Amino acid sequence: MRILIVEDEPTLSAQLAAAITAADYAVDVASNGLDGHFMGDTEPYDAVILDLGLPQMDGITVLRKWRATDRRMPVLILTARDGWHEKVAGIDAGADDYLTKPFHMEELLARLRALIRRAGGHASAELVCGLLTLDTRNSRATVAGQVLTLTSHEYRVLAYLMHHRDEVVSRSALVEHIYAQDFDRDSNTVEVFIARLRKKLPAGLIDTVRGLGYRLSSPK
Ligand code: CA
Repeated sequence: MRILIVEDEPTLSAQLAAAITAADYAVDVASNGLDGHFMGDTEPYDAVILDLGLPQMDGITVLRKWRATDRRMPVLILTARDGWHEKVAGIDAGADDYLTKPFHMEELLARLRALIRRAGGHASAELVCGLLTLDTRNSRATVAGQVLTLTSHEYRVLAYLMHHRDEVVSRSALVEHIYAQDFDRDSNTVEVFIARLRKKLPAGLIDTVRGLGYRLSSPK
């Protein structure tokens, strides 16, 4: 899962990036509304954290422009204390959730998880596929109750496939959703991650769909 943070306050932006990265998401950061709008318009984010008070283009305008061009990714807005009118304007502009500054990072992470799972049509923080369970609250995967030891990138691949289970996911989609923009991307590494995951998972869980990508299939 790949997250965009649009926040002009350097300390908060760095704290957000560190916490969200530590929760095993790929993270891109923009420090003004123009860059943020462009990145959200051109890259496939799974969710966006959008501050409303931004230089160059304010957050409400950024959000309106995305929604006007049918960019539907979940957006959580950050509003100032006592800014109830901002919340109303933000929700009307297409925000899916909001947090008032200052906030606890744990609450932000919980809201982020909820936005991502709702976007995928999942009701629970625990995603289940046969014997495999993925607990998005602590980035933990278990098979029949046994915890799997996964690297951060293996976890990201598995989490993306779990959020999109029974769908064919292309290798390029995996690359776009597990790496941040400035990461040195190599789509061959996706094959390596898949091969390592297959060794750790029950046989037959991840199918290769020739020429199209991969599919994590629910047991019939
Ligand atoms: Ca601001």
